[in-house]
Amino acid sequence: MLSLYNTLSKKKEVFESPKDGPIRLYTCGPTVYDYVHIGNLRSYVAADTLRRVLEASGLEVRHVKNITDVGHLTADDIAQGDSGEDKIAKKALAEHKSPAEIAAFYTDYYRQAEATLNILPAHIEPHATEYVPQMITFINGLIGSGHAYKKNGNVFFDVRSFDKYGALSGNTLEKLKVGARLEEHPDKRNPWDFALWLKAPEGHLMHWDSPWGVGYPGWHIECSAMNLATLGPTIDIHTGGEDNIFPHHEAEIAQSECGNGVPFARYWIHTRHLLVDGQKMSKSKGNFYRLEDIIERGYSAMDLRMLFLSAHYRSQMNFTWEALAQAKKNKESLVGVINRLQTLEIRDSKAKENNVYPEELDNPNGLDGSDYLSNIQKAVDDDLNTSESLSLALELSRKVNAALDSNELVKISVLKDVFKKIFFLFGLTVEDLVIPETIQSIVKARQTAREKKDFARSDALRDEIAALGYAVEDGPEGQTVRKR
Ligand code: AMP
Ligand code: ZN
Repeated sequence: MLSLYNTLSKKKEVFESPKDGPIRLYTCGPTVYDYVHIGNLRSYVAADTLRRVLEASGLEVRHVKNITDVGHLTADDIAQGDSGEDKIAKKALAEHKSPAEIAAFYTDYYRQAEATLNILPAHIEPHATEYVPQMITFINGLIGSGHAYKKNGNVFFDVRSFDKYGALSGNTLEKLKVGARLEEHPDKRNPWDFALWLKAPEGHLMHWDSPWGVGYPGWHIECSAMNLATLGPTIDIHTGGEDNIFPHHEAEIAQSECGNGVPFARYWIHTRHLLVDGQKMSKSKGNFYRLEDIIERGYSAMDLRMLFLSAHYRSQMNFTWEALAQAKKNKESLVGVINRLQTLEIRDSKAKENNVYPEELDNPNGLDGSDYLSNIQKAVDDDLNTSESLSLALELSRKVNAALDSNELVKISVLKDVFKKIFFLFGLTVEDLVIPETIQSIVKARQTAREKKDFARSDALRDEIAALGYAVEDGPEGQTVRKR
């Protein structure tokens, strides 16, 4: 039974899956004006972990993750700031490129980074620029029902028209009136209202025709319109980083509930920030690391994934190289035990081919790790407690190694299956885990060569394995194979 901390109710709730089809999961994707950094990736790994936990328990998920390629202003992250420049247009001007070129470049980069981190691709990846007609229809509806007003080619959402404003973030109208830093826009009735559509100034790079004149959409309406178009009026889970709570998600709720007349997202999941030297890692501050920075220092994307898993997604994480080094060691322990099991499995299948069944092979009375697997599943079911599940997985790997070292009985194939499931939950790549059939058969041939003391052939086969990207080492248990 999965329980999740819901930012809306501010408590852990049992997750009730929908009765009428797959789980509708929406993740706010990147604003593609700069390289996605490892802070963004922490949020995406958390959403990916959630998806993996749901899928591992047999549930079907329809995952939508948008690309913000217009409308996110430089002041959009501060209260209801509707001033500033469009982040993508600003970059396009600076680099003498078109906004489409900027967006395409950073979208490709983001996709590659996600694939390297083994993040499952979303089923639908809507680009904001492709949904402008739907946004216009949405805004028209809000004007028609009195939730929005137009002035001088701009359209604003009237926050006073939505009673529940502030329920997610705590920034109710009363609080906003007193303290928050609000950007004034001359056409707003009230400073806390936010833009749905903005008039394009002369020479503005991205613009569309609309019933209110030439302009472009506000950032918040994009996600409401893309949610509606891809998942319908009510979705099950909405995820994002903690900075999305206000104003972005608060505004999304207001627009969607006023526009569609039904509750919007049932569960709101927010990942706390990745910090660097105690400060939020962010594109605008420029204090960020990219995946290449990690790889250049001798770490892999999987080491980073292990680092993310070591802390709960609802706690802030300060990025340090020492913590990454520990994460790498942890990953090597897990991969090491899998390789060891795999080696034994190859030895077993070889023995079976020769009609030899040594007693210790895959013994039904041996250690099988299924109790660990069920505790690991329980831990992730408890609001994605990955740090607990990671400790359990490491404990199991130590147990398996100790059992193998002292020639105790182990159930090799069951254990391997247990680790395979753990790897899926943790999102560790299968290449680290499964040695392809072709390599396995060369390893077997090499075993035969070694038994016949044909070392020239054995060395030639080792080179063949190396050429295919794998390394083979000879140890007391036979050959160990791993990806290089
Ligand atoms: P952006 O491209 O700035 O819209 O951010 C994309 C996603 O990354 C959003 O869900 C943000 O909340 C999230 N995010 C941004 N910075 C961080 C950070 N330092 N740690 C965790 N998540 C972040
Ligand atoms: Zn969004």
